[in-house]
Order: sequence, then C-alpha cells, then structure tokens
Amino acid sequence: MRFHIITLFPGAFRSYLGESILKRAIQDKKISVQFYNPRDFAAGKRGRAVRVDKRPYGGGPGMVIEALPVIKAIEKVRATIQKKSKKSTVKIIWLSPGGTQFDTHFAQVAAKKYTDIIIVSGRYEGIDARVLKIFTCEQVSVGPFVLTGGELPAMLIIDCVSRQVPGVLGDAASLEERRVASREVYTRPEKFTYKGKTYRVPKVLLSGSHVDIENWKRLHT
Ligand code: SAM
Repeated sequence: MRFHIITLFPGAFRSYLGESILKRAIQDKKISVQFYNPRDFAAGKRGRAVRVDKRPYGGGPGMVIEALPVIKAIEKVRATIQKKSKKSTVKIIWLSPGGTQFDTHFAQVAAKKYTDIIIVSGRYEGIDARVLKIFTCEQVSVGPFVLTGGELPAMLIIDCVSRQVPGVLGDAASLEERRVASREVYTRPEKFTYKGKTYRVPKVLLSGSHVDIENWKRLHT
C-alpha cells in the first residue's frame, strides 16, 4: 500500500510515522508514505517563500489554497504511480469535515481494493473547489468536528488502513475487528495496592477457561 499525501506541512507527519508499528511497516516496505507540497508546484520568485493561499471570493475570514498547485501535485503523483506500475489501482481522498464518515469498514475496503491512496490535505478555509471538478475524489471526514488542517486526519487514515495491510500487525489475530476485543485490558502484576486499596485483575481472566474469558470480553466491549 502506497500513500501519497498532498500537504503544505509534510513535517507534521514525521514524529508519528517514525514510531512503533508504522515505522516498522515503512522499514519493512509493507507501506510507503510520500509527500507532495503544493508550494513546490507554484510559481514563486527566486529566494522568496512561495505562498499558495489567497483571499476567498465572496469574502469571509481565512485564506483558500489555490487550485493549480494542488492540481499539479495530483498530476505529479498520478504520473509517478503510472510509471511504477500500469496495474495500480488509485483512490483520491479529499479531506473535508463535511465528507463521508471514515470508519474501519472504509479502511478494510480501501486496503483490499487500492494499491495507491492519494490524500489531499487542506488548511485554512480549505482548497479551491475547482480541483474536485478535475479529479474524481471521495470527500472524507474523520469525525464531526473541524480541525485546523488535514494532517491529523491523513495520519489517522494511514494508521487505520495500514492495520489492514497483511503483515503490518505482527499477528493477524491482533486485528481487533476479527476477534472479541475488550475495552478493559489488564497486565502484570495480578494485584497492586495504591493508597491503601488493593486492585486485582478480574478472576475470570485468570481462570484459563477460554469460553468464560470470551464471554467476559463480550460483556466488556
Ligand atoms: N470550511 C472548511 C471545510 O468545510 O472544508 C473547513 C476547513 S478546515 C479549517 C481545514 C482543513 O482541515 C480542511 O480542508 C480539511 O482538509 C481538514 N479537516 C478539518 N477537519 C476535518 C475533519 N473532521 N475530517 C477531515 N478533514 C478535516
């Protein structure tokens, strides 16, 4: 699974992708994450920081990201994918708080169906909507709230889709969706005392009875 992220702030991804399971998945080449910055596709004066945000037509607060640098960035990604393999299956996700709600089912389908996912991450008031007239994109929301940018939503999607990619989780049984996973989990020690009170692991989890444990987990999901 190859992720291609269009973002003005690629640096925002570094720490999260550089830790734990996703770091290993990238090292093991189970997934890859490439960044494309619209600023690199905008005409700028030499030595000056390139701005790709402009005031919105119709007024209102905040700035809007210009269409053309984003269009050129998407074109570049598509050309790169095409060059890699003619058999690629590509999806373009356009992040928007008003889009289709992202969930595990979406991630499962995406991991099965596509080799390449392009995620277009906005900032400020968003991206000029004419980009949506040029490319077929699915507008996707990660929840009923508005964030300052699409970088966290993009990371969330990368994380959730990657879990569905074979070999990313050490043991396929780790996929919570395929087993009874409790929201209550316990580990060693079996009991400890804190401020005079003793806290124990529920007895059933020590019983060794697979059936009882599964039933208990079902009651605590
Ligand atoms: N009025 C704009 C809209 O409805 O798209 C809000 C823009 S928001 C401040 C800036 C960017 O953050 C959006 O373009 C989108 O990329 C991202 N974003 C914010 N909240 C999001 C959410 N819940 N799901 C997905 N993307 C979100």
